[in-house]
Amino acid sequence: MRKIKQLWSHDVGVDLGTANTLVYVRGQGVIIDEPSVVAINKTTKDIIAIGSEAKDMIGKTPAQIQAARPLVDGVVSDFEITERMLKFFFTKLHKEHPVIWQRPRVVVGIPSGVTEVEKRAVENASTSAGARETYLIEEPLAAAVGCRLPVTSSTGSMIVDIGGGTTEVAVMSLGGIVVSRSLRTAGDELTESVMQYLRDEFSISIGERTAENIKIKIGSAHPLKKVQSMSVRGRDLITGMPKEVTVSSDQLRMYLMKTVRGIVEAVKTTLEETPPELVSDIMENGIVLTGGGSLLQNLDLLVEQETKMKVTKADDPLQSVVRGAGLVLEDRESFDAILITTEES
Ligand code: ADP
Ligand code: MG
Repeated sequence: MRKIKQLWSHDVGVDLGTANTLVYVRGQGVIIDEPSVVAINKTTKDIIAIGSEAKDMIGKTPAQIQAARPLVDGVVSDFEITERMLKFFFTKLHKEHPVIWQRPRVVVGIPSGVTEVEKRAVENASTSAGARETYLIEEPLAAAVGCRLPVTSSTGSMIVDIGGGTTEVAVMSLGGIVVSRSLRTAGDELTESVMQYLRDEFSISIGERTAENIKIKIGSAHPLKKVQSMSVRGRDLITGMPKEVTVSSDQLRMYLMKTVRGIVEAVKTTLEETPPELVSDIMENGIVLTGGGSLLQNLDLLVEQETKMKVTKADDPLQSVVRGAGLVLEDRESFDAILITTEES
């Protein structure tokens, strides 16, 4: 027994998110938490920066440098860049914590419903980045474990994970996903709607970082108790000159609602497809919202209103998946059944 524990003690959980990549090290907690962004020189294909440094370059780079997100839709859309990004984070981990790094076993969260080819791409990226063995776990299950939902019991649980590029809605019971839906719209689309709002209403153009800040500060899915506003600087599309305007949460919400409604609809259709016994468990325990996108103000209220179910927000929505992957590592015996092995080709 002790030997097995020892073997597992240096192992890591990874959340390869469309927006953020997190790495959890057993016994140490979340050690890496950086944007899934890679800045590349388009001419030479050299990688110039990875993670936070690369995200800071978005919208500020000269023409030949491109800030790429290798996991745009939640799967590995660019294998080579993903591999180099993982390698970079693993190397960083190794440099900062040399003792914990000895070709670890790795548990990686992947979106539910990805193809065998995509699963193998993630496995290969992890292996060539230095993992001794790679296990995969479906993200909604990892998120649910991270939120301490009783996924391995016969009680039904529902999780809605709203990330940057994807939203995953899943009902789970007995360690498996019973019904699920995956949307390729989430927080990033909300950010785009902020940009559209500024363009349509004020004829100004703003960058992605500014738009994301506006969304985080005054974005909402349901009327706020008090209307919020903030001043924003951008470029006037008519004169080409800088311009400052004041934006309001009420007006902004109209632009956010298209995406928000799509997410709420996905929750409702998933509930409609859920077996009655499990619906009754979910009515009892509530729907759990997680992922960075779930931090949009009053989203919980709207989902509650639309589904007539109790809705709770995860304590640490940006870390649910990686924490879940970590908990699975720490208690392999209880969670063995929910790890995925890819089929031999
Ligand atoms: P992923 O798992 O796809 O990497 P995350 O769970 O890390 O995604 O969530 C990232 C998304 O959450 C981004 O679109 C980001 O703008 C959004 N987000 C983060 N904080 C907030 C907030 N306070 N309010 C609204 N959206 C937020
Ligand atoms: Mg995620």
